[in-house]
Amino acid sequence: MNLNERIKLINQKQILKEKDFILYWMSHSHRAFFNPSLEFAIELSNEYKKPLVVYYPLTDKYNFSNQRYYSFMIDGILEAKQSIEDRGIKFALEKVEDVKNRLIHHAQNACCIVTDKAYLKYQRNLSNSIAQSIKIAFFEVESDVCIPIEVASDKKIPYAYLLRNRIHQYLEKFITPVELIEPSIKSIHREFEFEKIPFKNTKDILNHLIIDKSVSFATFKGGYTEAKKYLKDFINYKLYKYKEFRSHPELDFQSHLSPYLHFGQISPVEVVLEVLSVYNKNDENVDSFFNELIVWRELARNFCYYNPLYNEYEGIPDWAKQTIEDHLNDKRDYLYSLEEFEKAKTHDKYWNAAQEEMLKTGKMHNYMRMYWCKKIIEWTKHPKIAFDIACYLNDKYELDGRDPNGYAGISWCFGTHDRPWQERKVFGKIRYMSESGLKNKFDIELYVKKVQDL
Ligand SMILES: Cc1cc2nc3c(=O)[nH]c(=O)nc-3n(C[C@H](O)[C@H](O)[C@H](O)COP(=O)(O)OP(=O)(O)OC[C@H]3O[C@@H](n4cnc5c(N)ncnc54)[C@H](O)[C@@H]3O)c2cc1C
Repeated sequence: MNLNERIKLINQKQILKEKDFILYWMSHSHRAFFNPSLEFAIELSNEYKKPLVVYYPLTDKYNFSNQRYYSFMIDGILEAKQSIEDRGIKFALEKVEDVKNRLIHHAQNACCIVTDKAYLKYQRNLSNSIAQSIKIAFFEVESDVCIPIEVASDKKIPYAYLLRNRIHQYLEKFITPVELIEPSIKSIHREFEFEKIPFKNTKDILNHLIIDKSVSFATFKGGYTEAKKYLKDFINYKLYKYKEFRSHPELDFQSHLSPYLHFGQISPVEVVLEVLSVYNKNDENVDSFFNELIVWRELARNFCYYNPLYNEYEGIPDWAKQTIEDHLNDKRDYLYSLEEFEKAKTHDKYWNAAQEEMLKTGKMHNYMRMYWCKKIIEWTKHPKIAFDIACYLNDKYELDGRDPNGYAGISWCFGTHDRPWQERKVFGKIRYMSESGLKNKFDIELYVKKVQDL
């Protein structure tokens, strides 16, 4: 893989050769394979003849820290740790109170820091403020997109088709394997000043974190091996009908890769290459799958990167805000509180089933996510309240929540990346979704039964 366009030095400082080690802060790409950040860090380690330390600062101070997603995430980190150590590289997993302070502290002995590029505000602010507070070079590597975000576009892209048109020209250049580089210095047995976590497995680590235990564990297990199993199963048994059945929640034709992609446990480039090792790129199912995995997923990153209001009602397009606010005084047939939504206590058994699916498994079907969010708009007093409720529930319960896809998906329900439709009550010209639409498109009763049986 040509790494050049994925790497950016973001603080104009030097690599200090007299220091002790190269530090890769594994912030997002929780994996040992197809990880350009890791390979770039190994390259630096070889070039400067300094040992590499892969560093994961584990904190329980993030929003929505709960056992559902922490257990999935730690599964993935422990697997990555093992695979990286198998390559002879030191992996330091530290329990920390404050990620920024700890990184600044370790930077005193490091030649430079390499990390994964982020797209959300709090992650970008964290990276930027660390980069500005240290005296050594700080590199960001784009490891979790097919096409580097600023290469695809230097501004916000309003519609998917515009990115779709552009993306195809870059695919050959950027969809290439990430070669594993042999580390010339084995750092695994060296001692560095990182505090050791004395715990061995996910359960043990979870017990030492102060996290919300009221959210149940998900039905997915984290890690690269699991991600590869889902990918293989998808390619072998589902992809051939993806186009026809991807919007059938009563069936199971999605890949289920979103939690793995969200935590960087698998690379989207690896997913694309695995698909192309079996299927022709002109296959209509492949086209449909890449439209989601590449176009919509990377449009979501573009949206969050260039629109600081991505997770706020105020960030929706002007036309959408205007039209929905023209209807603020329309009578709502139902009004629900956050608690009623959260407990799946609405009058609508289809909506409740979607919410239940998310509560029980940690992953709601894509088609139902659209219906779910549209109905929150319909059944709240103000669209701003609806936006906040949707973000809260999505971030708290979806394993793949707290992701650009989630904010772009919710914002899409409010008109982002969409066009005006026929005017109607409450929604104005924003696209509406109805119960009868569900009944016409698929066997919604079977979906309800499927969720009940979970
Ligand atoms: C209101 C709403 C909220 C959403 N919240 C999230 C979220 O928090 N996290 C999240 O990852 N996705 C979210 N999505 C997008 C989509 O529903 C999920 O990505 C998809 O259901 C994940 O399941 P899968 O991996 O089996 O999908 P597949 O159909 O197998 O798709 C493969 C991959 O393509 C990407 N993808 C698929 N659909 C979309 C989409 N509409 N937008 C962007 N990327 C897409 C995902 O990375 C997905 O893993 C949301 C959509 C809506 C409408």
